[in-house]
Amino acid sequence: MCESCGTAGEELSNQGVSRRRLLAGFGLGAGVSLIGLTSLATPASAATLMDARWCNPALGYFPAGGYYGAPRSGGPHAGQDITNSTGTAVYAAAAGTVIRRQWGGGLSGRTGNGIVISHGGGAYTYYGHLDTYRVSLNQAVSAGQRIADMGATGNVTGPHLHFEVHSGGLGPTVNPVTFLSARGVDLGGGWPRIDPGARGATVSVVQHLMNQRGSGLVVDGQYGSVSVSAVERFQSANGLVADGQVGPATWPKLVYSLSEDAAGHHVRGLQTALNKRSAGLRVDGAYGSITTTAVRTFQGVNRLVVDGNAGPITWRALVG
Ligand SMILES: [Zn+2]
Repeated sequence: MCESCGTAGEELSNQGVSRRRLLAGFGLGAGVSLIGLTSLATPASAATLMDARWCNPALGYFPAGGYYGAPRSGGPHAGQDITNSTGTAVYAAAAGTVIRRQWGGGLSGRTGNGIVISHGGGAYTYYGHLDTYRVSLNQAVSAGQRIADMGATGNVTGPHLHFEVHSGGLGPTVNPVTFLSARGVDLGGGWPRIDPGARGATVSVVQHLMNQRGSGLVVDGQYGSVSVSAVERFQSANGLVADGQVGPATWPKLVYSLSEDAAGHHVRGLQTALNKRSAGLRVDGAYGSITTTAVRTFQGVNRLVVDGNAGPITWRALVG
């Protein structure tokens, strides 16, 4: 499709321009009221894409030239590269089914051990240059489940994860950074954003952390009105914008720095977060040796400082 790097870049910037024109036309010509625009701009006003369905597939850094659309001999780079060392954990970015587990994911032009996960609704993710597979073909996976180890298989200069998002079917790619950002996930490794209406394990983590403060929430993984109200009160009490969105400003105040022998709802939250990342712990609220080992394992495979303590950096990696 793209014969040269220059052509590819031009196509991308033209798309940006037409999108801006579309948005401008919408605002001017469609008779949208100011109230309508305001409610669209308020993150917590309606169901949003930041519903905790998605999470970070791997920790590392973005290498220069590894961005989506970067010039490549065979056409623009179809994914975002995340660099770390061989053996770094690779997780499913959302729940789905492993539909490919083969060289290049069976996708044209890709190399190395690859996995493709179908997430439904025409969305797919591709994980390339893997070292070791940790799931089988046709296996159902949950968001955050460990699926592989990062590696350097195929045509690469060093170990990294090549991560693609396909939207509208398997084939057409989108920018993984912006796709995940719209869904509350910072592919660069920051805290996630979770809006009212979200559901899943990370919502349960929030509920456990709120219960440590006496909220008495039912831990059901549903970020409904009772949980949202509790978070909004917590935000107000901590000088935060009380919008109900659990994001980069709220998370650091919400998590607890925990270590062995701690006990309580916050430890249940930690165990729930570890289980999302395949720890397989009993959620009993007791930070004993098994939980310490799970924290150390998680830290090790994510190339964090391995101390067995759950501090802010470990929490951010767990829930991100
Ligand atoms: Zn790549």
